[in-house]
Amino acid sequence: MTHRKPYVGGNWKMNTDGASGAELATAVAVALETEHSVDIAVFPPFPYLAGIGTLLRDRGSTVLLGAQDVSDQPGGAFTGEVSAAMLLDCGVKTVLVGHSERRHVIGEPDALLNAKAKAALAGGLDVVLCIGETLDQREAGETDEINERQARAGLAGIPAADMPRVTIAYEPVWAIGTGKTATPDDAQNAHAQIRRVLADLYTPEVAGAVRIQYGGSVKPANAAELFSCPDIDGGLIGGASLKATDFAAICHAAAAAPAL
Ligand code: PEP
Repeated sequence: MTHRKPYVGGNWKMNTDGASGAELATAVAVALETEHSVDIAVFPPFPYLAGIGTLLRDRGSTVLLGAQDVSDQPGGAFTGEVSAAMLLDCGVKTVLVGHSERRHVIGEPDALLNAKAKAALAGGLDVVLCIGETLDQREAGETDEINERQARAGLAGIPAADMPRVTIAYEPVWAIGTGKTATPDDAQNAHAQIRRVLADLYTPEVAGAVRIQYGGSVKPANAAELFSCPDIDGGLIGGASLKATDFAAICHAAAAAPAL
C-alpha cells in the first residue's frame, strides 16, 4: 500500500490583519521548523499572501502557502476575482476549493467548483477539494451520497495524472466551527467511502495515494484519535489554526499517527 504523508492545513478564514498574520505565520514556522514528517500549509486571507509568502521563504520554512479560493477564469474582466497565475506569483502552492462556507454561505455550485479546481491545476497550483454533508443531510442518512456526489462533480474531467496534486478534505458542515466533531468511527467510515469513490473514478492505486484530510473542530485534544484512523491523513483546521501552539500540536499529532 502507498504510504501517505500526513498533511495538515490551517484555514485562517477572514481573520488576522497584516501584523497579526505575520506574527502567526512566524510563530507557526518557528514551532514547526523541525517537523518534517508532515506536510503543513497555512491559508491566510488574500491581501496577506504575498507578505507571508516572502516571510516564509526568507525563513527557509517548509510551511506551504495556500489560498482560500481561486477564480475559475485565467484573467480579464472579472472584478474582485483572483486568478491561479496571480496566486502563483505571490508564492502560493495550493488552494482550497469548495470550502463549506463558499458552498453554503456564498452559494458556489459543484460545476463552478469543478471549474475552479481545473483552473488551479492548469495554473500550476495544488488543490484541496472540500466536501461534506450538512446536518440535515446527515440526519437523513445521506452522508455517503453527498460526499460521492461532491467528489465526482468536483473531480469531473481531472485526469489521474493530476491526482497527486489533489487532496480531499472531508468536512461535515455541522462540525465546522461548532465545537462538534465527528466521532473517529464516523469520520473513518466517511473517509473509507470517499476512497472507494476515488477507486471507482480512477484506480485503487490512485485512490490509495490521495490524501483525505478531516476537518471540523479539530483541536489538540482530539487530533491524535482522529488521525490514528487508517483513512484519515491529517486535517484541515479552522479555529485552532489561529493559535500557533495549538496548530503545531495538531501537526505533531498527525506526524505521530501510526504509519499507514
Ligand atoms: C474549516 O474552516 O475548514 C474548519 C474545519 O474549521 P474549524 O476547525 O474551526 O471547525
